[in-house]
Amino acid sequence: MAVTISSAVLADILARAAASPEREVCGILLGAGGISSHVPAANVAADPRDSFEIDPTALFAAIRVERAGGPPIAGYYHSHPSGRAEPSARDQAEAAGDGRLWLIVGTGEARLWRAEADGFVAVALAIV
Ligand SMILES: [Zn+2]
Repeated sequence: MAVTISSAVLADILARAAASPEREVCGILLGAGGISSHVPAANVAADPRDSFEIDPTALFAAIRVERAGGPPIAGYYHSHPSGRAEPSARDQAEAAGDGRLWLIVGTGEARLWRAEADGFVAVALAIV
């Protein structure tokens, strides 16, 4: 089953990634039943050229908003500035396998994945 994403949200994320050719960008995807908004976050990884770590402050803030009845966290996004829109070996190693969505922006495209317990599964993305 495809997961929907707002075309405005996807355009925002793609623009953010395109504006950062040297560092992976990252953020949080929000929405119930589809991706309706996103929260950009700082990439606090030690080497942001080829890895990402969402600023925990942004993550905790999003969790607080969700617990207060705000939009639920659907997943996360990050970019591979000169790579493919699929999970890297590092992504595979670091994913929690919690069922959350991962939107990965590679060169020229974005693809959606779900972090399952036994690895990433491709998920169809429907732009609305
Ligand atoms: Zn990655």
